[in-house]
Order: sequence, then C-alpha cells, then structure tokens
Amino acid sequence: MEKYTTLSSVQQDIKDSKLHLRQLVEAYLQRIEENKHLNAFVEVFAEEARSQAEIVNSRLLDGTAGKLAGMVIGIKDLICYQNHIVSAGSKILDNYRSVFSSTVVERLLAEDAVIIGRQNCDEFAMGGSNENSFHGPVKNNADNSRVPGGSSGGSAVAVQAGLCMASLGTDTGGSVRQPAAFCGVVGLKPTYGRVSRHGVIAYASSFDQVGPITNSVEDAALLLEVIAGHDEYDSTSSTLPVPAYTQQLDFSGKKRIAYLPETLTSEGLDPEVKALTEKTIKELQEAGHAVEPISFPYLDFVVPTYYILTMAEASSNLARYDGVHYGYRSPNATDLESTYKKSRSEGFGAEVKRRILLGSFVLSAGHYDAFYGKAQRVRRVIREKTDEILQDHDFILLPTTPGPAFGIGEKTDDPVTMYLADIFTVQASLAGIPAISLPLGETKTNLPLGIQLIGKRFGESELLAFSKYILNVTKSR
Ligand code: GLN
Repeated sequence: MEKYTTLSSVQQDIKDSKLHLRQLVEAYLQRIEENKHLNAFVEVFAEEARSQAEIVNSRLLDGTAGKLAGMVIGIKDLICYQNHIVSAGSKILDNYRSVFSSTVVERLLAEDAVIIGRQNCDEFAMGGSNENSFHGPVKNNADNSRVPGGSSGGSAVAVQAGLCMASLGTDTGGSVRQPAAFCGVVGLKPTYGRVSRHGVIAYASSFDQVGPITNSVEDAALLLEVIAGHDEYDSTSSTLPVPAYTQQLDFSGKKRIAYLPETLTSEGLDPEVKALTEKTIKELQEAGHAVEPISFPYLDFVVPTYYILTMAEASSNLARYDGVHYGYRSPNATDLESTYKKSRSEGFGAEVKRRILLGSFVLSAGHYDAFYGKAQRVRRVIREKTDEILQDHDFILLPTTPGPAFGIGEKTDDPVTMYLADIFTVQASLAGIPAISLPLGETKTNLPLGIQLIGKRFGESELLAFSKYILNVTKSR
C-alpha cells in the first residue's frame, strides 16, 4: 500500500472508494509488527482500531464523519484513555488502567479519529532520549543505534517510520519538538493553556502541554483545531476562541523574524546545525523577509531555570504515587512508612528519583529562596525579554537541538550534558508561548535536523501558516 502522509489524501481515496479505512489500519498494524525492534508502541489497540475503522469508513461514505475521519493516531503513554492502561513509562503505574479519558482523547474520538495504540516515552516524560522508560529505549528509524529524542520518542518514531499517521505527545521543555527534530517530522508545542491538560499525567504543571507530531503542517493545524479550547476540567485552559487553523494556512506578505546570535555561537553547537540555521536565515532573507539578529543575553540561564522549576513541580506532582492509592505497592512493605518508602524506591526509575530528590531540595525550607524563588524570578525575566522580542518580530528562529540524534547510551552517564541538550527548546516553555520544529534538513550522514520557530502567545495561526510556507520555500533547495 502507498504510504499516506496526509489525512486529506486518505479521506479523498476513501470517498473515491479506492481505499477502505480498515485496509489502512491493517497496513499500519502490519508495519507496527514489522518494526517492533523500534519499540515505539508499548501497546497496540488492534481490535478496537479495526472496529472503529469500519464505523468511520461508513460515516465517511454517508457524509456524517467528523474532521479526523481517516486519521490513524497514536497517543503517548502519558495520556489517559478510559479503560486502557496508561503507565507513564513507569513501573509504578505499570498495568494501571485509567478510569476516565483525557479531554484530548475525548476530542479526538468525537471527531472520528482511530486510536491505534499507546506509545513509549521517558518515565513521567522526564528525559530527552527515551532511554528512561520502564519499557526500554526506543530506536531512531534513521539509525537504530541512535535515540529518537524524548520524552515523546515513541510518538515521533511512530510517525517517522509510518506506523501511524500522527501522534499526540506532550511537551514540557521540548518533548514534542526535540524528538520531532531527531526523527524528521513536524512537532508543535502550543501556547500554555491552549490545550487542556485534564487526564494528562502531570510532570511540571506550569509547563506541560499536549502537542501533535505529524508529517505535515496541515495535519498539525487540524489536530490542534480539534484538541484546543477551553475545558472546565482544567482551570488553566484558555477561554479564547479556537481559530480555524486549517482555514488560515495561506501565507502571503513579508515577515520580521529575529534570530538569536547567542544560539549560533553556543558551545556544543554542531557545525551542520549551525550551517542549516544560517542557510534557512539566508533563504528567508532572499525571499524578502527581514531576518535580523537580536541579542538574547539569558541563553545560559534557561536550562538551570527550567530544571529547578520543573523538578520542584515534579517532586510535588509525584507525591501522589505512594503505594496506597493506586499503582505499584511493594510486596516487601510491612507497615505504612515502609509502604511509602519501598513502593517509591522500587517503583520509580533512577532519573525520576533524581528529580524528586533535587526538586524536594530546592523547595526545602533553607533553600527555597535561593533556588525555587530565584528561578521563578528568572523565569519572569526570560518571559518578558522573549515577549519583548516578539513585540517587534513575528517569530524567533533558532535550531531545535544543538545536534542530530545522539547514540543510545552516549549521554546516560552524564545528566548535566543530557539537560544541556535542551538549551534551545526550554525558552519557549519558560515563556509559555508556541513553538514548532520543522524538518528542514539532514546531516551528511542522513540524520534529520530540525529548525524551530517560536511564535507569539496564542499566535498558532500565524506560526502554522508561516511554517507551511517555509517548508515550501526550502523544498526548492
Ligand atoms: N528533556 C526535558 C526534560 O527532561 C523535556 C521533557 C519534556 O518536555 N517532557 O525535562
């Protein structure tokens, strides 16, 4: 079967009776089976996907189908789906079955998506390589000895390898954008508050957002249109109306774009990433856009600020896994205290424990002001500076990652190096604004590279339209 990369092509072929959705689902199930070595899915909902495909196919033919009819999608193993296991990549929730569905899942199903399975991720979304999963590491389909990025690594590889058409991941500090860059696909982190977090297992609540991983900007726009919008179950979800993103993808005119010179001189930047960024800047300038250097003097502070705040929030969020309410309970416990201690010691992996310990430390009485309080203040400075740049510019352009996908095991012994690899994605997360990673190039050895565009708060429409345009401009390379 031909590899479908956009929903519109699937819908057209079903309407023309050239394709039955069941066939497409079978093709994906087969590809998932053939690519088990990638470890992208932790569970496949084969029977459900088959029966949903029958229903949706008839709806497409009789004209009653929803917007996502024909979309075969996978969800990160962090997003709750009623009566399905959601493990957050952790032993502590292994075999935990969700009693309700997240708002994003309800919205997918209301528009007739077919959910084909749940996808591997770093434990509690903590990681940038998908090596911190209880279900084992995920492999990059471009080179099986390399990581897919994380934490939504399974979600990105599934799209990269054609195991489903799109995925929903989550992005706290880059977990949609960075794996998208490593896997050569599109990854969008919406504005904080654009998408409901209800039913999405929390890592750092003032950062977490659900975002689509797709082959095309059109499908990212469509998925965002479906999942975005106010939700009474998430008080941080915005009441701003959701634009018809898919109807606003035509771009014309000239834009003013900032690039941050500090990103191009930053230590550890791969020369090929640098060259691609410079080339993209030049191409946009040649196409008549104003692309100019604007200094961002806080680049060295973004990673420490992000990690202090997210670890603090994580230590609080993960307090609920106590071996009593739900999830793993140690069989070796003898009383209440040992139930807490043993269940948490045996149930959490090393990286999660590191973050709970550090997060508790930065929140502790003697250290709160020096770490947590200060990081809060620095977050504000970063956000204000970023907003200021975006007052005079439509977008900020920067690499998504300092280098291409690194080798499995390469950074596991050195958490600081691993954290520093997030240097380009956490700025938008600290500022709470939208950002997208676009597959704009490859290394000489054919590893995908991503370029990131950051947009204005709730400016997803403009961001998506310009992203589509950039992909077209650079296609002619
Ligand atoms: N790599 C970052 C971290 O480990 C981002 C993770 C995420 O966005 N969930 O925190």
